[in-house]
Amino acid sequence: MRLQPENQGNNTVAGLYIHVPFCIQKCPYCDFYSVTDLSKVKAFVQALQREISLTKTYGLQFDTIYLGGGTPSVLNRGQIEEILKSVYSRFSFSQDIEITIEVNPGTLFLNSLEAFIRHGINRINIGIQSFYNQNLRFLQRIHSAQQACEAIDMTRKAGVENLGLDLIYGLPNQSRKYWLKDLKKAISYEPEHISCYMLTYEQGTLLHEWRQQGRFTPLDEDMVRRLFEDTISFLKEAGYAQYEISNFSRKKAFRSRHNQKYWSHAPYVGLGPSAHSFIRPMRWWNYHNLKDYLQVLESGLLPIGNSEDLTPNQLMLESIFLGLRTSSGIETLRFKKEYGIDFSHHFSPILERLQAQNLLSVSDERCVLTLEGMIFSDTIAKMFAEFIAELSDSS
Ligand code: SF4
Repeated sequence: MRLQPENQGNNTVAGLYIHVPFCIQKCPYCDFYSVTDLSKVKAFVQALQREISLTKTYGLQFDTIYLGGGTPSVLNRGQIEEILKSVYSRFSFSQDIEITIEVNPGTLFLNSLEAFIRHGINRINIGIQSFYNQNLRFLQRIHSAQQACEAIDMTRKAGVENLGLDLIYGLPNQSRKYWLKDLKKAISYEPEHISCYMLTYEQGTLLHEWRQQGRFTPLDEDMVRRLFEDTISFLKEAGYAQYEISNFSRKKAFRSRHNQKYWSHAPYVGLGPSAHSFIRPMRWWNYHNLKDYLQVLESGLLPIGNSEDLTPNQLMLESIFLGLRTSSGIETLRFKKEYGIDFSHHFSPILERLQAQNLLSVSDERCVLTLEGMIFSDTIAKMFAEFIAELSDSS
């Protein structure tokens, strides 16, 4: 692999992601890899420790660990402790490290939370999704609205000072009134961070299938758009600044340091089934299947399923696509340093079109999507992709 950990743009400090591939029950909208057979949890923890011991660190220092999934809180506190001990002994970490665990209100206990904190976890992200049982039933979550509230209280009681809540909007029949009530309830707990995800119908999920079968009518696109706009204005008013399409924090210090690595093309190493890693210019990913993951590690090999060497054009397109998701946008100086291209000049035909439609704003320092532009971020990214492809075809 031709990796350049010393040349990773602004941020050479890496992130470590650990994918815990278990859930009590599969939510019909979810396309993350997870299984509901918990009989392999112990084998997974052992295999993960083997993966940690085999993984090269490429001389990187890490300042974030993110335990995601799946549902990391299905592991018991002893298992979380074992995993953290293994990574602490294998990788090099900054003093000031952000360690996040995603938890599900249906699998959370006070003694586990206290143990998480003792082992250095300093950021808890709770998958609340909604404070209404009707919505939770539609999403087939394992928890109730009451459990969602109890999980937040428990987290604060355990002494967590950096709390993130995840919510979902855009459910069939959802009204502005009820979405705003969800947001109001969320901010009443004064979380440091809120993520609001638009419900999507990803190919291969049950929800996608049900939609195809006409089992429900999705929310009208205009209404989804209005809910997105309501989210931004409501949270802004409540003191939460939007720093990425779906992410809001009370202060800059409470932004997810780990997730910002993905958007800024910083290096990250992923462990566990289906986890992706990126060290410019390579991306590689583990087997998307627990059985293969366990078997390969059993034979003493790393469970890498595949990899790709990104071309300069692919890297550039990703930087644009990811940068446009954030409130800092595409930093033109950094862009010039990384790709040797004057962003405003090179993309002027496309920038002029988007500016004329009030979808994007460009200054000397950066190029940022407007609120309207954020709604069409995927279409805009596609426009840049086509522009880059046309230019490379003609050169
Ligand atoms: S609990 Fe989370 S990871 Fe598991 S299926 Fe539901 S949304 Fe996906």
